[in-house]
Amino acid sequence: AKRVYLFNEGSKDDRNLLGGKGANLCEMTAMGLPVPFGFVITTPTCREFFESGNKLPRHLETEYNVALRLVEDRMGARFGDPENPLLFSVRSGAPVSMPGMMNTILNLGMNDDIVEGMAKKTNNPRFAYDSYRRFIQMYADVVLEADGEQFEHEIEQYKKAHGKTLDVEMTAEDWQAIIAIFKGLVDFPQNPAVQLKEAIAAVFLSWNTPRAIFYREMNNIPASLGTAVCVQSMVFGNFGDDSGSGVAFTRNPSTGDHEFYGEYLTNAAGEDVVAGIRTPLPISHLEEQMPEVYQQLFETQKRLELHYQDMQDMEFTVQEGKFYMLQTRSGKRTGRASVKIAVDMVSEGLIGEKEALMRVSPEHVDAFLHPMIDVNAKTDIVAKGLPASPGGATGRVVFSADEAVEVAAQGHKVVLVRRETTPEDIHGMKVSEGILTELGGMTSHAAVVARGMGVCAITGCGELTIDYAAGTATTDGGIVIKRMDEITLDGSTGEVMLGDIPKTEASANEDFMTLLSWADKYRRLSVRANAETPEDAAKARELGAEGIGLCRTEHMFFDSSRIDIMRGMILSEDREERQTYLDQLLHFQRDDMLALFKEMHDLPVTIRLLDPPLHEFLPHGEEDLVELAGRLGKSADKVREIVQSLQEVNPMLGFRGCRLSIIYPEITEMQVKAIAEAAVAAHKAGYNPSPEIMIPLVVNVREIRAITDIIERGIMSVVEQESVSFPYKVGTMMETPRACLGAERLANSVEFMSFGTNDLTQMTYGFSRDDVGKFIPDYLDRNLVEDDPFVSLDQRAVGKLMKMAVEDSREAKEGIKYGICGEHGGDPRSIQFCHELGLDYVSCSPYRVPVARIAAAQANV
Ligand code: ADP
Ligand code: MG
Ligand code: MG
Repeated sequence: AKRVYLFNEGSKDDRNLLGGKGANLCEMTAMGLPVPFGFVITTPTCREFFESGNKLPRHLETEYNVALRLVEDRMGARFGDPENPLLFSVRSGAPVSMPGMMNTILNLGMNDDIVEGMAKKTNNPRFAYDSYRRFIQMYADVVLEADGEQFEHEIEQYKKAHGKTLDVEMTAEDWQAIIAIFKGLVDFPQNPAVQLKEAIAAVFLSWNTPRAIFYREMNNIPASLGTAVCVQSMVFGNFGDDSGSGVAFTRNPSTGDHEFYGEYLTNAAGEDVVAGIRTPLPISHLEEQMPEVYQQLFETQKRLELHYQDMQDMEFTVQEGKFYMLQTRSGKRTGRASVKIAVDMVSEGLIGEKEALMRVSPEHVDAFLHPMIDVNAKTDIVAKGLPASPGGATGRVVFSADEAVEVAAQGHKVVLVRRETTPEDIHGMKVSEGILTELGGMTSHAAVVARGMGVCAITGCGELTIDYAAGTATTDGGIVIKRMDEITLDGSTGEVMLGDIPKTEASANEDFMTLLSWADKYRRLSVRANAETPEDAAKARELGAEGIGLCRTEHMFFDSSRIDIMRGMILSEDREERQTYLDQLLHFQRDDMLALFKEMHDLPVTIRLLDPPLHEFLPHGEEDLVELAGRLGKSADKVREIVQSLQEVNPMLGFRGCRLSIIYPEITEMQVKAIAEAAVAAHKAGYNPSPEIMIPLVVNVREIRAITDIIERGIMSVVEQESVSFPYKVGTMMETPRACLGAERLANSVEFMSFGTNDLTQMTYGFSRDDVGKFIPDYLDRNLVEDDPFVSLDQRAVGKLMKMAVEDSREAKEGIKYGICGEHGGDPRSIQFCHELGLDYVSCSPYRVPVARIAAAQANV
């Protein structure tokens, strides 16, 4: 296929073929904007290059030479002609923007003869020699892979020896001297045709530099795309004082304000601005210096934004008072700017509401819900873990929950650092700004609880070694973080930093609300929240939840005022003793449920029956055990014996979920009674409760029947006694492969099915979700899995089980409601998949609700 396209042969729709930069250079050429002419070598050529072992295709040179001749004609100069030389930039450009990640070579086509010719022809020897030394430097760096530092070092040495500090003080003779030094350092081809060929290959190779690979992984860009190469005639911003270079945005990229925003440097090549070697001046300087050029730039940016209907980020150069466009692309922007621009553009009539929704990413939404670390302020990154709960936090390091409470009470902000967290750490987690754990994955206790609280968290930070006794956390790099040291976490990226890093405050604004209202208009999926406490429920409602999709009842028993009753219940030696504790628990559970029903008023509340293995409620240490025995009036030996009898080799696959209801029906009876009495009380108080009772960890329909029997009996006895009825449903969690595979047999006994994708993923993979932190980072690094399956739903296999379950059960019975309540319910890609599966709702932690609303709309527009 055709491998080379002139700038007048493509358009902006050719991104995949010509890369973003190439396609936009073509588009601007077609718009009649002043773009230095050139050609693009396609991205499939890059793939060919790699497939043939890093060799340029045989006929490529012939093909680009034809294009090159046409460029020469148009520019009225010749490549390699000392009398009238044409120089090129050789630029990378992938289909997806990867700013600054790959290589570019400027001033290509120079050699010892040509530099003389240029000096003469332009009557500007300083410019000619400066350009030549820049070329040698870039060519050496990119093509010859020489040590770039060395060149800068030589320039510094020379300046020092000659009493100069700034580039502008360097004369033609100075640059000549530098060139002589450079030529002693590297041997580079004098033949421009060889330079071009080598440079094209080097740009292709730069697709696979470590930083480019890293960037692709961070941004989920497939490695198979490859880069195009743009070969473009050079224009020179370093020609003199009537020349210069700049970058500009059609709107302010940090605030989103509708104002033209840019920076400009006089007598400088664009790389000086882009690389930040010299500090540029505000664009108003260009307006003062060259009003006509400024006017041209201003008109151009207006045209480009209208044309692309998006905020543009542009590069331009001025040579001898003449204006040139070198690049335009959709500008990167902060979350706040993203939302403002999208909403503004709708009111300006530039785009529609649906398009506006597509413009905003989930990370953008986070900026309104959590304080965010200022990316430009990041320093001293000492470790990296999993980005478990978004936002940024700074605080003093503490190593236990009790310490967290203590230090927070002294008025400090704290970051809780643990090997892992357990339900016993909740009180400490509540007072912490952020949570950092060495172990655990994206669905570990720390991650789930932190997301639920909207607190920033990093889990699975294996680069840390925590020593509780010494009160230190040591990084692999040997940095020791001590108790009370100040650190900052970026839960959106997983980075741990020393000191206090600046953050932007979270707060919703009118634009954000507008965007969310559009999301609600266009989505089909409804969005519920996972919440247990009235506070979380209130937050969820405020953020737009349309019900509770998962209330984990066990969370209500971890509270310090109740945990001993729960423990007493578990350690009971007979049914009678157990019942006395259950009666006390009933009282708490009913109050909790009532508060939740009131908070949610007329929205559905899905209540899961007790799920975790019972020993999770029991103390671990010998000392705690003895104290507990004392409080319960039991002998320590007896308590120890029962605790031991409850221990399991593999608790996640052990005595938990609905198995508890089968063996201890009295626990379920208590829970159902609490729910029913609370519903009646709420009803009497003028609310419209609609509980949905959910049976966890089911493997077959007999379990469902047995437990539904308990549920119905319990509800009916309350209804009969109180003479009040209320709507309720009974359904099951779909979280074992067997439940999914046999869904048609469950269908007739349930009114809803909610996919518990945390357990379903765990059981499908056989990956313990609490232990994946040990190997998932390596799996990701080595590309053995594409994503952490606990973060983004594995559509291939886990998704297949879900799909099968939905289809088979739907065939068996109409009208079942389907939902998802695993952590994936808040992940945009997983939400897209749930939409396609035809689920009715997703349920996620309250702080993910706005993200889920937008993702659900994006899936449907
Ligand atoms: P990046 O991928 O880093 O954006 P570019 O291909 O845009 O790399 O090149 C970097 C800089 O080189 C540009 O910002 C521009 O200032 C300069 N440059 C590229 N091509 C030319 C050209 N034809 N004439 C003058 N300067 C150029
Ligand atoms: Mg650029
Ligand atoms: Mg589960």
